[in-house]
Amino acid sequence: MSSAKTPKPDELIAIRYEPPETPWMETPTIFRPGTWSYSGTAKSLTALGLPNPRAWQPSDADWKLPENWKEIILEGMRERLEKHRSFRLFMDICVRCGACADKCHFYIGSGDPKNMPVLRAELLRSVYRRYFTKSGKLFGRLAGARDLTVDVLKEWFYYFYQCTECRRCSVFCPFGIDQAEITMMGRELLNLVGCNINWVTEPAANCFRTGNHLGIQPGGIKDMLEFMADDIADRTGVRVDVPINKKGAEILFVTPSGDYFADPGTYTCMGYLMLFHEIGLNYTFSTYASEGGNFGLFSSHEMVKRLNAKIYAEAKRLGVKWILGGECGHMWRVIQQYMDTMNGPADFLEEPVSPITGTRFENARSTKMVHIAEFTADLIRNGKLKLDPSRNDAYRVTFHDSCNPARAMGLFEEPRYIISHVCNHFHEMAEDTIREKTLCCGGGAGLGNDENMEMRMRGGMPRAMAVKQVREKHGVNRLACMCAIDRATLTSLMEYWVPGVTVMGVHELLANALVMTGEKERTTDLRGEPLEGKAVDEAL
Ligand code: SF4
Ligand code: SF4
Repeated sequence: MSSAKTPKPDELIAIRYEPPETPWMETPTIFRPGTWSYSGTAKSLTALGLPNPRAWQPSDADWKLPENWKEIILEGMRERLEKHRSFRLFMDICVRCGACADKCHFYIGSGDPKNMPVLRAELLRSVYRRYFTKSGKLFGRLAGARDLTVDVLKEWFYYFYQCTECRRCSVFCPFGIDQAEITMMGRELLNLVGCNINWVTEPAANCFRTGNHLGIQPGGIKDMLEFMADDIADRTGVRVDVPINKKGAEILFVTPSGDYFADPGTYTCMGYLMLFHEIGLNYTFSTYASEGGNFGLFSSHEMVKRLNAKIYAEAKRLGVKWILGGECGHMWRVIQQYMDTMNGPADFLEEPVSPITGTRFENARSTKMVHIAEFTADLIRNGKLKLDPSRNDAYRVTFHDSCNPARAMGLFEEPRYIISHVCNHFHEMAEDTIREKTLCCGGGAGLGNDENMEMRMRGGMPRAMAVKQVREKHGVNRLACMCAIDRATLTSLMEYWVPGVTVMGVHELLANALVMTGEKERTTDLRGEPLEGKAVDEAL
């Protein structure tokens, strides 16, 4: 936690939804502690080959920009307008209908009009008009145009790093304007002059250095997986294999590094190990492709491409047939929406077929990568798993659709299918907060750091309120999700807004219920908590 003091929930909830006293173009940006993220360090920028590595912070008056920073940004904007038709379209077509205005969790949680998606886009659009449209060049302010100044650049930084690229607003826009794409462009432009955040650049740099965001060395990954195997043996009496860097395995399994090292992700990872052992899967982990997440998505298209290529290079090196991906969020947005045109099609791999059920995953024909929820749901549907849902009877579960698998993949039914087969008490949150309308955890896109805690709690507030509702109505005490960032950020969010609700992965729930061949009588769940006589936490 940074030195910034996060207000208490009852203080934070007193949100003023009022227009500012001055027009938005004249309202200054104030870098209030707790609402912004630390800058990328010179070391990380140098490692990534990014421009203008230096020591600075967003709260400094002097950002130490290159002398010709304005030319760099405008030239970068021109290039991107020519290269990405969607960018020019999104700059031109908004009719300011306002349908998106109250759909962003950061606006709901802060009341700051510049967090309305329509106005967030306008931060960039106003500069686009000034330099790239006739009306803006001729009529300036009258045409909604403004000069690019240092203050405007600072405003971009503040608000493009208060957008989690969740794409909820685009669901409600009649034109499908994708604010996440606009934010990505804004961040790309900022990157050109060395303005980025460390929670994005350091994980990306680590990924090239050791293979994963957390900077875990290969030996550390091996040790962690073996510790998990020991814990599994302790809980179940079954010793599972931990195949790593196994050449000639049929499947490469890739998951976020949070699953190896951070609770509660580690329990989800134990779930994968147990499942793969039980079905006799011929698979391997990789220490080089030891990161599913792709923080390039939060900085530039070029970085997305470079990081994604690592996974496929490793699949080729190991000689696997196809790739299975774990419970991750933005990994799936990259695979689903960018991989094919950036690095694909992955024709050196085979179209994925489940070796257990024979199901052909035609949706992965080009990327050759299958989501673990699709894979597991198919196993259950074909009767390949013995499950005892009563082992999860102490849990009243609700499910948070992670933004990227939900909105980028449409992966709504598979996790629900699994959950409904592995536990007896499942309660959906309100309809307008789930599936494609799901609300963000408030800490995605690199914003899940401690110094930004107040903004995270504000942005996560709408999701937390939906959880609170099912807790009060049904006694929900477990929030299941399918994303490593969610598992980390929702944990802080629940502690702050809805104490008593614990976050867990879908495959942790599955593994609790999985009846393994030769197992001893289970007396605890994966966390080592007793199964028998466990009191159900009733509605508060
Ligand atoms: S993409 Fe998400 S965080 Fe960004 S403006 Fe839209 S709703 Fe808000
Ligand atoms: S809903 Fe779409 S068209 Fe309407 S204001 Fe928002 S971005 Fe513009």
